[in-house]
Amino acid sequence: MKIELTKLPYSTDALEPHISAKTLEIHHGKHHKGYVDKLKSEIEGTDAADLSLLEMIRTRKGKVFNFAAQIWNHSFYWDCLSPKGGGGPAGALLKAVDRDLGGVDGFRESFSEAAAGEFGSGWAWLICKNDGSLAVMSSSDADTPVRQGHTPLLTLDVWEHAYYLDFQNERGKYIEAYLDHLVNWKFAEENFQSVANK
Ligand code: MN
Repeated sequence: MKIELTKLPYSTDALEPHISAKTLEIHHGKHHKGYVDKLKSEIEGTDAADLSLLEMIRTRKGKVFNFAAQIWNHSFYWDCLSPKGGGGPAGALLKAVDRDLGGVDGFRESFSEAAAGEFGSGWAWLICKNDGSLAVMSSSDADTPVRQGHTPLLTLDVWEHAYYLDFQNERGKYIEAYLDHLVNWKFAEENFQSVANK
């Protein structure tokens, strides 16, 4: 399968002043692209070359898993950000957040905890499990809930490369900026709807 660098769904300066153009240029143009280039050279001429990203994530370990998962996670992350983000969910997703997470405030608290509490590099997630219930979780390094078959609704990249230029060591401020101004609930609602349609 052809492995490609997905385009950003907005211009690199669209998320300013929260996430700078410089951060997006490096994060997308160097880090994300780096994973794509490295995966391509890693799988060239091997039996992994015919697999989709998700198949690599679910069946491979080591470098192939790490690069494939980072590519998938980053493509997903770009869509979780919006220049008109923030606020809260609506409709069926709001009902599920009320039912499973103690409402939007409860979500905010557990998501912030998961994002702040991931000790090293990793990701915070809002996921929908196979039984339709919502949960908040974190994952380390490249790990991703799609490996376990969960459906991610939202993610936040908490690797330092995602926020260091804009927030230095203050990951908490980056988490707050995400929840207050950037998080794309419309995208989360679409992802939640896709579970209902399965
Ligand atoms: Mn990243």
